Amino acid sequence: MPKPSDKICIIGAGPAGLTAAYNLQKKGYKNLTVLEKEDHVSGKCWSIPSDGNQFDMGGMEVGVAYDNVRSLADEFNVPLMKAPPFLLAFLKEKKITGSRFSIFKGFNLIIVFWCFIKFWYYTKIKYRRFIDRPTMTDIPDELLVTADEWFENKNMQAMRPLFHVIITGFGYGTLDKITAAYVIKFVFNGTFVLMAGLGYKQWPRVFKHGYQSLWNAVADSLPDVRLNVNGIRIDRTDEGVTVYSEGNEPEKFDAAIVTCCMDNTLNKLIPDATTPETDFFDPIFYNHYWSILTKSKNFPRPQALMVDYSLEERPDKPWVAVKTYPENNTILFNSYASADDGSDEDLVIKNIHEEMKTWDIEVGDVVGTKLWTYFPQLSLDLLKADHYSKIPTIQGTKNTYYTGACLNFETVYATMVNSKHLTDNYF
Ligand SMILES: Cc1cc2nc3c(=O)[nH]c(=O)nc-3n(C[C@H](O)[C@H](O)[C@H](O)COP(=O)(O)OP(=O)(O)OC[C@H]3O[C@@H](n4cnc5c(N)ncnc54)[C@H](O)[C@@H]3O)c2cc1C
Repeated sequence: MPKPSDKICIIGAGPAGLTAAYNLQKKGYKNLTVLEKEDHVSGKCWSIPSDGNQFDMGGMEVGVAYDNVRSLADEFNVPLMKAPPFLLAFLKEKKITGSRFSIFKGFNLIIVFWCFIKFWYYTKIKYRRFIDRPTMTDIPDELLVTADEWFENKNMQAMRPLFHVIITGFGYGTLDKITAAYVIKFVFNGTFVLMAGLGYKQWPRVFKHGYQSLWNAVADSLPDVRLNVNGIRIDRTDEGVTVYSEGNEPEKFDAAIVTCCMDNTLNKLIPDATTPETDFFDPIFYNHYWSILTKSKNFPRPQALMVDYSLEERPDKPWVAVKTYPENNTILFNSYASADDGSDEDLVIKNIHEEMKTWDIEVGDVVGTKLWTYFPQLSLDLLKADHYSKIPTIQGTKNTYYTGACLNFETVYATMVNSKHLTDNYF
């Protein structure tokens, strides 16, 4: 087990890496180096400027249950503000509806209310232990089905339209394919109403100066965060690791924490990866998700739209459109990528223009684009085989440790929970 005097290298300055480094610093570790291949920290919580504001190209919302994110924000005095109110828009009807409850159209509202109570019971009591776990182990058997099957088994189909918009709109997939366990990890008590924009009081929130403002503050508190340093290889012995990065001399450390996801790169980064390591990482697959930031003069109020498209019919179409700051005419659009190799950026932008025209929304210049590799996940069969329970067998292999979205679930909250588990239990 590493000790506080050890020299630790953390690869990746996203939420997972920075949380790990920050926790280790609190535990008395002083020789911490974080390597980040981009020119900024924050990974998928990247924010970019437009007309004096910072726009979130990735992670955006902070739910009321995200206690770890909130306490970090408090600690560093990084301001949050109320998220822009979401409006649900239904393509088939070609209209923007003002009532949030219109999503339950066709269902008796008493049944909807009953479903909400059942959902509260499942997430607050029945699945609580699973939800709180730092990874996807000990999944209750009844969550080892698709989300659609779970709604059917629990007689909760009335909630489907809401979940369809949240899960599919936020890039996690379609309810007929995604495993219920992932859905419950994301939409648990305290987040789900909020994520749908049905929230109360001041939730959900967003960072006033972009999500990256939080991670900039955390990085500033660390002794050695190096930007534009792409870790390309880790050589390992029982004594320590040597990290190779592009354009730099190799550097020796006592241990490495790898936080970047392993989209088929494990063997490149770690040429001597052991069978348990490759067995764990190789079956993980990803979604692809576009973030396109554009100008728009006449975006309606409230300032966010979720458009209910069916993914199969309309790949590459904008599902989510968010205007974060009321007085700024910059809009973020999120769309799926249709092809694994990344769909064509021009097509995605063309679709945004065309679709918004049907809503009488005028879209102007593009400010920024990003195709994300997103939501590392496993097949239902592997979840049934309790794949994530293999994690303890890979931690510490030749002084290498792992954390990040691959090991739990793709939200900042879940990522931070996993990093805390790592630093509490292995360091
Ligand atoms: C469009 C979008 C919307 C989202 N919305 C939300 C939301 O509203 N709420 C929420 O909680 N979460 C949201 N998320 C998810 C959240 O952003 C991620 O779960 C979180 O950022 C994962 O953190 P991570 O550190 O595991 O990975 P990442 O954020 O991907 O960070 C990994 C870091 O490692 C770096 N890296 C990779 N390889 C190397 C290498 N070889 N050498 C050096 N550095 C390397 C990367 O550049 C990156 O900075 C969203 C994500 C996206 C894409």
